[in-house]
Amino acid sequence: MTGSGDGIDAKSLFQAQSGLTYDDFILLPDYISFGVNDVDVSTNITREIRLNLPFVSSPMDTVTESEMAIYMALLGGIGIIHYNNSIEEQVRHVERAKRFENGFITDPIVLGPDNLISDVDKIKEEYGFSSIPITEDGTRKGKLIGIVTGRDIDFEPNRKLPLRGFMTTEVVTAPKGITLQAANDILRRTKKGKLPLVDKQGRVVSMVCRRDLITNEIYPLASKDKEKRLRVGAALSTHEDDKNRLAELMKVGLDVVVIDSSQGDSIYQANMIKYIKSKYPELQVIAGNVVVERQCKRLIAAGADALRVGMGPGSICITQETVAVGRPQASAVYHCARVGRESGVPVIADGGISSAGHIAKALALGASGVMMGSLLAGTAESPGEYFYEGERRLKRYRGMASAEAMLAGGAKRYFSEKDKIKVVQGVEGFVPDRGSLRTFLPYLAQCLRHSLQEVGCRTLAEMHTALSDSKLRFERRSPSAQREGGVHSLHGYKQPPVPGIS
Ligand code: NAD
Ligand code: IMP
Repeated sequence: MTGSGDGIDAKSLFQAQSGLTYDDFILLPDYISFGVNDVDVSTNITREIRLNLPFVSSPMDTVTESEMAIYMALLGGIGIIHYNNSIEEQVRHVERAKRFENGFITDPIVLGPDNLISDVDKIKEEYGFSSIPITEDGTRKGKLIGIVTGRDIDFEPNRKLPLRGFMTTEVVTAPKGITLQAANDILRRTKKGKLPLVDKQGRVVSMVCRRDLITNEIYPLASKDKEKRLRVGAALSTHEDDKNRLAELMKVGLDVVVIDSSQGDSIYQANMIKYIKSKYPELQVIAGNVVVERQCKRLIAAGADALRVGMGPGSICITQETVAVGRPQASAVYHCARVGRESGVPVIADGGISSAGHIAKALALGASGVMMGSLLAGTAESPGEYFYEGERRLKRYRGMASAEAMLAGGAKRYFSEKDKIKVVQGVEGFVPDRGSLRTFLPYLAQCLRHSLQEVGCRTLAEMHTALSDSKLRFERRSPSAQREGGVHSLHGYKQPPVPGIS
């Protein structure tokens, strides 16, 4: 059947000697015998880690820190914390995600009895709340001795008075480890607004707020480990001293490490994979980046649990222009996924995903997950603040090999100390506001379910089988076909609303 009848199979699509991008082809439809909500897009993003959504946020300093990682995991994907920071900072981001419990504030701010009312005012201004547990020494290491709420201090004109004269000392607490449901019951019964949870020594370990319980969202797709903690990943370089970084990350429960390199087929990476697999056999290793078969084979032989595919397709990338090495992304994903499948090693398509449709195309070519940078950098959960350019609300987004990122992280990470001439491989730019990840990620997932339904596949595994069996059909798109596939022939039009932004 290959090459005949309606459309062609993937093998025929990619046997041509020119490289293809996602826009160069289209998926042909097949028979629909089930509803869109019957589609299951769960997937293995590594040999051992299964997720409900095939979405991974990129380890970039304008994409993934703890807030992005927490919401990626709550919504069913996973976030990879970047390493353009100190070991302590990276560990803190991973720890926050691992300690996060929906409904519990796991790092509550505390004050001491000698702090002033004006200290509470400052917290209110910065974070928007004014109920603060008071501990003996003003840290979470000291015993809880009281609580101050807005009601205790609102009408005091002298803001320079210490809190000891205003705090309530009869605090209702609950023991650490209590369930959210039980905490909820205590709050209802006692009519309190805040419930500090304390350990055996009386130290505050977390807190539950009535207001959060009322608005508490439920995340049925959340990515969790065996102990029901959120899953989180972190990036690492192939440099020797990052072994210390990994040792610290392991102490806080890291699930998966991404060895971050634009050309992953190196002796440095092979040695790093072997080191990790012998020292931490339970840790999943995503190796890369790769784009051709021989690279995949070497990294799989070294022990990779997944491959990250993409060299040059990123929205901020100038690698193909500066070093002239890489591969058009659709070709890279198809060829690498074929090698991965032979060894049971999933492939993550990384970079160049600029629309929901590209996600479906990457997965149709055999990828088990997609890694996204620019698409997620404009959400509220990415690091950085929004700003306006005219009417447009934007966020900063930059390549990890851009001059700005290297300056922020210390150029020595990216170049040998001896390199006198630095070759920058990324740019700094801006991306549009995409609202909250809480609406944007479910929207991307629903687009994907529609794609699978329209090609007649109920699961990603079914789609991959259809790909190998040549049942999944494709067609090349000429430049005019690509124009026809977008909005055209109008005098002007209204952009469809971005989910989450009204
Ligand atoms: P890298 O650290 O892997 O490589 C930088 C240089 O250091 C290379 O010359 C490499 O060979 C060398 N090196 C690495 N480990 C070494 C070791 N142990 N001993 C001696 N030399 C060693 O980083 P990179 O490839 O420049 O990537 C930097 C960042 O930019 C990463 O975040 C990467 O994801 C991103 N990037 C991605 C792409 C892409 O297309 N996916 C392209 C460019 C940059
Ligand atoms: P995007 O989703 O198209 O924005 O691409 C994101 C991907 O680009 C990342 O996951 C990295 O693989 C890659 N990347 C990150 N920083 C750089 C850079 O500075 N130059 C080239 N590629 C980069």
